[in-house]
Amino acid sequence: MDVDLPAEDDPRRVEVRAWFAAHPTPTPAELVDAGYVVPHWPAPYGLDAEPELQLIIEDEMRRAGVTKPVNPIGIGHCGPILVALASEEQKQRYLMPMLRGEELWCQLFSEPDAGSDLANLSTRAERDGDIYRVNGQKIWTSLAAHAKFGILIARTDPDTSKYTGISYFIIPMDLPGIEIRPLRNMVGGFGDAGFCEVFFTDVEVPVENLIGERDNGWAMAKQTLANERVSLSKEGLQWGHGPTVRDLVDLVRRTGGASDPLVRQRVAGAYTEGEIMRYHQLRQISAAVNKTPGPDASLRKALKDPHGQRVFQLGLELMGADGMLDVAATDPAWQAWASGFLFSPALTVGGGTSEVLRNIIAERILGLPHDQDVELGLTWSEGRARLKTAS
Ligand SMILES: Cc1cc2nc3c(=O)[nH]c(=O)nc-3n(C[C@H](O)[C@H](O)[C@H](O)COP(=O)(O)OP(=O)(O)OC[C@H]3O[C@@H](n4cnc5c(N)ncnc54)[C@H](O)[C@@H]3O)c2cc1C
Repeated sequence: MDVDLPAEDDPRRVEVRAWFAAHPTPTPAELVDAGYVVPHWPAPYGLDAEPELQLIIEDEMRRAGVTKPVNPIGIGHCGPILVALASEEQKQRYLMPMLRGEELWCQLFSEPDAGSDLANLSTRAERDGDIYRVNGQKIWTSLAAHAKFGILIARTDPDTSKYTGISYFIIPMDLPGIEIRPLRNMVGGFGDAGFCEVFFTDVEVPVENLIGERDNGWAMAKQTLANERVSLSKEGLQWGHGPTVRDLVDLVRRTGGASDPLVRQRVAGAYTEGEIMRYHQLRQISAAVNKTPGPDASLRKALKDPHGQRVFQLGLELMGADGMLDVAATDPAWQAWASGFLFSPALTVGGGTSEVLRNIIAERILGLPHDQDVELGLTWSEGRARLKTAS
């Protein structure tokens, strides 16, 4: 595979570069109108761009020092579902403000007893005239305290199998009966409300907030998770954001280099691993960028997250004693490494744990037999109990 990006005089690159020269500080609306926020989406949101054009746009945007509007869950996870399955009115209402980053979104999926085994969810949405009445609890909801909307999966038919009878809704986060309780974590960020518990008590959700067909939400939830895994395994080490291993190497160079041969070896090893990840990502982008994400996204995330943990650990060690200080007190150049280290244990948990990703790779890429607990319709804890009894 050719891993070089299209040449400097490639007409597509020339056109994109000219646009950024004419719009050196574009507003979010200008970026959306140009189709540069989600180039792979269809018009009017994107350009239906093929892989190379997407890579050119990303590259030129970086070169121009321009960043996209921030709305990771809206744009990265549930936006593609709305494009494919929402009604015309829903698309018109939600998509453009989402892309401009004007209305932040969150994802109301996990529950205390439904994480990896998400279909075990028990939040109920009962039809009552022209509303659904929602009761239940969600947990680990990133950005819930800041979001205008959430995408909710809830059980609309409790009398059917675990994977059917689930529906997918848009929830205005200020509806009466929604209580958001921030969960403090060691990284901080977003005013200590990086993620939250969300309680629903008799929340009245208009029927027009249902996406697609009632009771058919499990397929949409799985697709949202696959989109999430693509989004979380982009280049930055912190789930597609934050620094890369190349930034660490540059920082080591700028701050005097490393003389210890063992440290040099570890930096070189991390760099090599990072390059392998980058080529792997380019290969997957060229192969699959406009297709619906599949198990490849799990493979990329399964490789990328432990890599992120190793590089953040190395960054912390390179900081020496400063690594033990409050993030704000350390050299600003190293701050991303100190906070990244604190976040890094979460990398292999959120968006699918390493074990769950390996199950997907085993079954859907390697064709190994299905998890017997799933075949038997058992939850994870029931499966553990079965194993214990068997041994
Ligand atoms: C930073 C962060 C942000 C998050 N943001 C959101 C969000 O915005 N919205 C949302 O809905 N959720 C969010 N989550 C929750 C996340 O999706 C869950 O933490 C994740 O799915 C794991 O579920 P759990 O925590 O309940 O762990 P469990 O599922 O209880 O897993 C516990 C352990 O058992 C293992 N395990 C479970 N099942 C299997 C199996 N079949 N085979 C082998 N091992 C298994 C797991 O790997 C893990 O080690 C976030 C989590 C983190 C860390």
